[in-house]
Amino acid sequence: MYNLNKECNDELFDIETPASDSDAIASDFQRYLTQHLGRFIGCMPLYQYEALALTIRDRIMTDWRDTWRRYDEQGVRRAYYLSLEFLIGRSLGNHILNLGLDRETEEAMNRFALDLEGIMSEEVDAGLGNGGLGRLAACFMDSCACLQLPVIGYGIRYQYGMFRQEIENGFQVEEPDHWLRDGNPWELERPEFKNLIRFGGRVETVTDSQGKSRSVWVDTANVLAIPYDVPISGYRNHTITTLRLWSASATSDFNLEEFNAGSYSEAVEAKNDAEHITMVLYPNDVSENGRELRLKQQYFLASASLQDVLRMWENNQGRDYASFKSRNVFHLNDTHPTLAVAELMRLLMDEKGLAWDDAWEITSHCMAYTNHTLLPEALEKWPVALFEYLLPRLLQIIYEINARFLRMVAMKWPGDTQRQRRMSIIEEGEVRQIRMAYLAIVGSFSVNGVAALHSRLLSCGLFRDFYELWPERFNNKTNGVTPRRWVAYANPGMSALITEKIGHDWVQDYGKIAALGAYADDEGFRQRWHAVKQANKQRLADMVMHYCQVEFDTDALFDVQVKRIHEYKRQLLNMLHVIHLYDRIKRGDIEHWTNRCVLIGGKAAPGYRMAKNIIKLVNNVAEVVNNDPQVNGLLKLAFIPNYGVSKMEVICPGTDLSEQISTAGKEASGTCNMKFMMNGAVTIGTYDGANIEIMDAVGEDNFFLFGLRAEEVDREHAQYNPGLLIEQDEDLRRVMHLLRCGHFSTFESAIFEELIDSLQSPGDPWLTLADFRSYIDAQKRVSLAYQDRSCWLKMSIANTACSGHFSTDRTISEYNEGIWKLQARPRDEQSRSRTAIKET
Ligand SMILES: *Cc1c(COP(=O)(O)O)cnc(C)c1O
Repeated sequence: MYNLNKECNDELFDIETPASDSDAIASDFQRYLTQHLGRFIGCMPLYQYEALALTIRDRIMTDWRDTWRRYDEQGVRRAYYLSLEFLIGRSLGNHILNLGLDRETEEAMNRFALDLEGIMSEEVDAGLGNGGLGRLAACFMDSCACLQLPVIGYGIRYQYGMFRQEIENGFQVEEPDHWLRDGNPWELERPEFKNLIRFGGRVETVTDSQGKSRSVWVDTANVLAIPYDVPISGYRNHTITTLRLWSASATSDFNLEEFNAGSYSEAVEAKNDAEHITMVLYPNDVSENGRELRLKQQYFLASASLQDVLRMWENNQGRDYASFKSRNVFHLNDTHPTLAVAELMRLLMDEKGLAWDDAWEITSHCMAYTNHTLLPEALEKWPVALFEYLLPRLLQIIYEINARFLRMVAMKWPGDTQRQRRMSIIEEGEVRQIRMAYLAIVGSFSVNGVAALHSRLLSCGLFRDFYELWPERFNNKTNGVTPRRWVAYANPGMSALITEKIGHDWVQDYGKIAALGAYADDEGFRQRWHAVKQANKQRLADMVMHYCQVEFDTDALFDVQVKRIHEYKRQLLNMLHVIHLYDRIKRGDIEHWTNRCVLIGGKAAPGYRMAKNIIKLVNNVAEVVNNDPQVNGLLKLAFIPNYGVSKMEVICPGTDLSEQISTAGKEASGTCNMKFMMNGAVTIGTYDGANIEIMDAVGEDNFFLFGLRAEEVDREHAQYNPGLLIEQDEDLRRVMHLLRCGHFSTFESAIFEELIDSLQSPGDPWLTLADFRSYIDAQKRVSLAYQDRSCWLKMSIANTACSGHFSTDRTISEYNEGIWKLQARPRDEQSRSRTAIKET
């Protein structure tokens, strides 16, 4: 066994972090390239990337080790962010920025006549997430490191991340994303901290020597969870926190008995089965569950992470769990890791010998849950039958939690059996199901939504019964994004200009961005702002040309909607506007015209037919619009394939108009709305999610609001009559006619029938046509506003200046003050190297 408590005098043997001047970087780079990789300077750029990544990583390692130790000191309260997704994107450039090595690294590369940006673009995105939820987790980790909070992220190291989207003949085609193929310099395998995860089997009750009965889970099929640590760098603060990702592995590589008996393939099969658990990320942004492998992933993450925390605890405190609940908090990113509630109960009772009440006291004081959606199809439920054979012990525990909970409900509302049935963790019916959100609420001391409107709708709608029972548990934490990646790194031109005017502090103290507001009326500043935006637009136009072969002219308005393709996000409404503009051009109605380049991007879940049809429609409309000589640059439309984090890093700085047009009440928060705002885009949006707070911050004059509000949406459903709307609106009638007559689907008859039907259906849950007129009018106001350049620039600057609230530093501070209650652990020069090492 490893001697984890081995003590030695660190000071005697410690070496300093390598120097960070350009000489040192250049020479390390050269050494890695030649001595480690065996290449010449003029080798494939991939090797240049690898050598540079290793060079930069060297400058992280000691701070990483020291941060871990600082967070692991006795008595430090810590939080664990449990998430099935971390949509990290690329790391090299982000670390270079955070370490403050941009200039030095650039100089070092220039010595070899190499281009830093080109090298950085060799890195493949770590696409371990679907969209907003996974990206939020990544921004959260960045802010935790920036604020020096003792937080560890726990997730899954999928071998295949989000699929790569290709467009063939206008259709989405999914290709596997084998992101680890060329190795990953940003992970460290820690096999010494592996854990055993059990599945299947049955539960026996045994009586121990003291006459206490105890449950044992036997005859299980076991899998190993191996952790891989990923460093998360704080902004210039010598703090490197950890994202620990679990990978599944068979318990023994080969079953020798079977192998010797000649069953080689059976032996290998067992290994493959085990490793399948972490093979692939489920590519559904919201909804679709019931898949056994997905449930296995969820339990695998929960169990491995909890065992890891208990191991660290015992390493420090022994088996005394008395103060565990005051030192640990587990944050559940949506219901995906909710099995942690039942698993912590199991570990504390079955493995640590605690009684139910003591285990529950700990569990219910250590868990906090964030809800991410109100869409009913996205609320996770798992068939009881699946639990019966996959996780029988957890099912017993969930039943017991539910029984005790329902007794409490009965005490509070005697005789209200309806309510008990509504609130039960087990949904009765033909297929009995476990309601994961209810398990999360019952097991947590805090439940939060992700924007003010969303949290309000949770309390008075979806979770109303629970709110009436425990109002003190419910709270709001409006999402954010990290200004390091989304402004300082993605938009160096604008960042330099901001820093020149208001100093450099805004990067780590983003509230300071407000000082930029003073320059909105300064014509000289506006011109420079414009120049930066134009350069960013050129960069985006180059990218669009490269991936779509469509030419975007930077004098046109860049109108962008990028996000997962989903009916509630209403990319269709955007298309109706594009078709309307096309129709105006065709009928010669182009007085006071503003040229527009419309960009759409996003992935559709592979099984989501409607979303895939929307992609096809965008591509077909683009084909017609871009090839019509009469349109001639007045309008362009492109669909950018394989939208992801690194694409967004080019897209948001080059955007003029940010499309946030979901049906009111459906988008929990949105975060790309915040990235765009920070980068000086103006929003056209519905009164939904965080759009509301964005508009509050920037003012109605700097925001193009349209559409029904959430309360109106409910009323509208009762009387919704799309047929009448079409009949009474000439513009809409013409648009629908162009769609129906097959103008965008010649030789592909009827492919858009389902889309058209959905628009015309009185039961359309997204009420797309209800907002058509209001949207078209708002877009007209946008076009006019864009013609007045200094007015537009003023709005653009105001958006950036008012975006201070939307930094995840603010969000995380609120999580910390309201939920986690951790103390920041800044590096203390004195304590460095003085305490003896105790590795965990
Ligand atoms: C920010 C971001 C999202 C979230 O976008 P929403 O419009 O808020 O849904 C999704 N994907 C990527 C790659 C992002 O960067």
